[in-house]
Amino acid sequence: MVEKLIVGSLNTNCYLFYSKSKNCVIIDPGDDAEYIIDTIFKLQLNPLAVIATHGHFDHILAVDQLKMTFTIPFCCNENDKFLVKSMKKRATRWLSRKIYEINPKIDTNLQSKYKIKDISFTILSTPGHTPGSICLYSKKENILFSGDTIFSDGAIGRYDFSYSNKLDLEKSIHLILKLSNETKIYSGHGEETNVKKEKNYHK
Ligand SMILES: [Zn+2]
Repeated sequence: MVEKLIVGSLNTNCYLFYSKSKNCVIIDPGDDAEYIIDTIFKLQLNPLAVIATHGHFDHILAVDQLKMTFTIPFCCNENDKFLVKSMKKRATRWLSRKIYEINPKIDTNLQSKYKIKDISFTILSTPGHTPGSICLYSKKENILFSGDTIFSDGAIGRYDFSYSNKLDLEKSIHLILKLSNETKIYSGHGEETNVKKEKNYHK
């Protein structure tokens, strides 16, 4: 099951992905830790890990607070370590509020497969927007968490950062669109979509 929470000043989609037994992973907690924690308690979930689709601050600002609250690891691809490390500086530049002492450390380098108790994903390496961007794919549930690689209505991730790569991004989108048509896409911002719809925009 998926619970979507819109967090932070950049309206990031944070997702709680949980099993029937209420085990859950927190995906892209971009801010508003209290709101995320409250929702976890309300739904009576058992959080097992925090996962980021990439290292941009608007996807990880609440990581430290969630790690501390639930004593759970932070999983992200190590190729975005440089972004995670400089997150506070980048966030301060963008946001007009004070960023407190946060410095999330990556505990697990996400590559190819991820499994914890009854939750599992195939990790698709989808660089381009950032070098360490990944998508979380559950074949069983037919869903993909796509981060900032692909959005609804033909939109794609920004590739104008110094560390972005347009060609890689195009390859990553191509990889995503090879999944089955019914695959539901939950992206980092905006509405959900599916592979079939997005294929119309990327020919
Ligand atoms: Zn991003």
